[in-house]
Parts: sequence; structure tokens; C-alpha cells
Amino acid sequence: MINLDRYAATYGEKYGEHIEWLREVATAVDSYQDIHSNTDFRNAQLDALLLSSFSMTTEERVRMFEQLSYGDPGALLFSPGPSLSGVILNEAGSEAQKAQFYDYLKEHNCRTFFAVTEPNKGSDAGRLESRYTDGTLSGEKWLIGNGTRGDMGVVLFKTGNSPLATRAALLTKEMIDSPQIERRLLKQHCLRGARLSYLKFDALPIPQEQLLGEHLHPCERGLFSMIRTFNKMRPCVVGLSIGYAQAAVDLLLEHGKDAGIPQETCRHFNTILATIREVNLVAAKTADKEPDNMAYSSLAKIELDDLVKQIRPFLFQHFSKLQSDHFVHVRKFMRDSYAFDFMEGTHVIQKHNLVNILKRNDYVSPWSGQ
Ligand SMILES: Cc1cc2nc3c(=O)[nH]c(=O)nc-3n(C[C@H](O)[C@H](O)[C@H](O)COP(=O)(O)OP(=O)(O)OC[C@H]3O[C@@H](n4cnc5c(N)ncnc54)[C@H](O)[C@@H]3O)c2cc1C
Repeated sequence: MINLDRYAATYGEKYGEHIEWLREVATAVDSYQDIHSNTDFRNAQLDALLLSSFSMTTEERVRMFEQLSYGDPGALLFSPGPSLSGVILNEAGSEAQKAQFYDYLKEHNCRTFFAVTEPNKGSDAGRLESRYTDGTLSGEKWLIGNGTRGDMGVVLFKTGNSPLATRAALLTKEMIDSPQIERRLLKQHCLRGARLSYLKFDALPIPQEQLLGEHLHPCERGLFSMIRTFNKMRPCVVGLSIGYAQAAVDLLLEHGKDAGIPQETCRHFNTILATIREVNLVAAKTADKEPDNMAYSSLAKIELDDLVKQIRPFLFQHFSKLQSDHFVHVRKFMRDSYAFDFMEGTHVIQKHNLVNILKRNDYVSPWSGQ
């Protein structure tokens, strides 16, 4: 049973009911058998809330995702809604494409996917191998959340070799159901609710009106609009991880003493989490105001990944004391938290980003306020 008072002490009471529901279904969503079954976990109020995230600012979305992740990030990622496709549609979609996406979602409450990562090139959007030529798309994607379940999705590909040639398209249900797409669920160990999938496109026809950014200047619709989208997504992923870590730390603060878990260390984790939350909210606000500035979101991801890398060995060290039902969610966190390092760029890549930014003369430090 979730202790809503602890949740409220950090976040207020806004999403209490949703958090309880997400925690309730977490283990079932996560269970290996369910990955292969058609069990659908639906909650109409949560569906409506997630649908409303389509028109939220990054800051609003981050605050909401962090709190819902306190319930369970796996169950949250498995839920229907605009996912990260909504973010790129807001950045690069035409009004007609936004309406097409939103109206369908509203009517069908479906799942959606955002397909960037490829088996050979990872999530490096500038070097993707998927190609759009003569009106058709060919290529492979993997690690795509809800890729097998989504009725709609956005896919990234290249039309040529220059950075301006990275483009995206909105795929409709008819296109996704066509025989030119193969979809397969991948075997997964961590954060199974994400339902990571493999997709293969074999000369899938995509009409020009489904290409995002046709109404924008070529400089704005290529890699630059993708980078803006990633800058807005990253604080959401960090928020998911903060909410999950906060739930684990709260359980340790609530029940850990009786189990012999050192409370001073848990309080230390709690304090650092509060600081990282502040940094991440700065990242979210920056993504809204200066969408090209990735310094803060990379920094928040680095700090969070560092903290998780401290929490995990601590939990392993005391693993024998974490066997009671009180700590089911903590044990789940120990496994799932590996996935967060990879989502939206690994720790190493974020450091690489930050070092490049620090080398620039116009860099303003998040800490100095200068
Ligand atoms: C739960 C989950 C959900 C996901 N959902 C989606 C989704 O919905 N859609 C989607 O498109 N993708 C998704 N992904 C994929 C994810 O975005 C990528 O895995 C992530 O961005 C990391 O990129 P990569 O796989 O290219 O790894 P890489 O960047 O290739 O890194 C691989 C490893 O090499 C290291 N490395 C890379 N470069 C260097 C270097 N220069 N120096 C030193 N070390 C280096 C990295 O730190 C890492 O350990 C998901 C992944 C997970 C785990």
C-alpha cells in the first residue's frame, strides 16, 4: 500500500489517485508473461490526463511525469497517450498533423511510439541509416517504446547525407498495419512496461503530407528541430527517474529503520534528490524558453545518473534486509533504474555534450547565475 502522506510531503496531493493506480498495476504490467499477453491496463482518468500533456509546456509535463513515476514508471510508459511523439509534433508538425494526431488519440485512447534508435547507429539522429527515397521508407528501428502496441507514431529517417536531411513522419494506423512494416516485441529485463520493440520498414509508402516540417524553413525542420525536441524530452526522462528514486527513498525512510537500513544515508539521498529536482526544473524551464540550450538538461541527467549509481550499490549492500513486502518497489527500482541511464542519451554522451558546450565562449554556468 502506497503512503500518500509521504508522496504529498514532496509533491502535494494532485495526482494521488493516479499514483495509487499505477503502483497497483505495476507488478502485473511488469510480469514477463503479461508482455506476451493482450492484457490491457486502462484507466480512463489517467488516459485523459496523459492526453492533456499534448498541450503542456515542458515544465508542466516534467512536473506531471515525475509525480506519476512515483507510482510506477513502467506502468506509466505502457499507458496510452501522446508519448514523445506529441513533443516532436508540437515542435515540427503542421496544424493539420497536430489535429490528425490529437483527434485520433482522443477518439481511440491508443498508445503511440517515437522511433529514432537503430540497431547500427543507436540514437545518433544525424547518422541514421533509415532512408526515405521516392516516397517510401526503408530501415530498421529498435528499443522503441510501445512499438508493437502503438496505433500511431513518429519515425525519424534521413533523405540524404547532410544534417538538414534528417526528417520525421507521422505514421497513421493504416500505414502501421500495412505489410511493409514488421513489428516485434524485444526481450527485456529492465523497465518492462516500456515494451521495447523492433520495427522494420520495407519500402513503406509515406505520402508527403505525413512528413513533419514541410511548412518550415529547411534549416528548422532538419536535425535542429530534432535536437530541440530531445532537449524537451530529456528533462521528462530525468523527471521519470527522479520520481521513481524518490518513491524508493521514501520507502527506505518509512520502513528501512526496522529492517536495519542506515537512515542517515537515506536522508542524504533524499537531500540530493531535492537538489536534482531543482536542477531538472531549471532544465525544463530552459527548454521552454531557449529550446536550443541543452546544457541544463544534460547536467540534470548526469547528476541524476550519478545519484542512481550511488543508490544502487547501497541497496545491493543491504539487499538481504530488503526482502519484505515493504520493499517490493525498491527491489523493482534496483533493476529498472539501469534503463534510465540509456534513455535519452547515456551519461557518457551527456558529459560529451556538456564538455562541448563548456568550450563555447557564450556558455553561462547554471551554478554561477552569470
Ligand atoms: C527503457 C528504454 C526506452 C527507450 N525508448 C525509446 C523510444 O521510445 N524510442 C527510441 O527511439 N529509442 C528509445 N530507447 C533507446 C535510447 O534512446 C537509446 O538507447 C539511448 O539514447 C542511448 O543511445 P544508444 O543506444 O545509441 O547508445 P550509445 O550512445 O551508442 O552508447 C552505447 C554505450 O557506449 C557508450 N559510449 C557511446 N559513445 C561513447 C564515447 N564517445 N565514449 C565513451 N563511451 C561511449 C555509452 O555510454 C553506452 O554505454 C529506449 C531505451 C530504453 C532503455
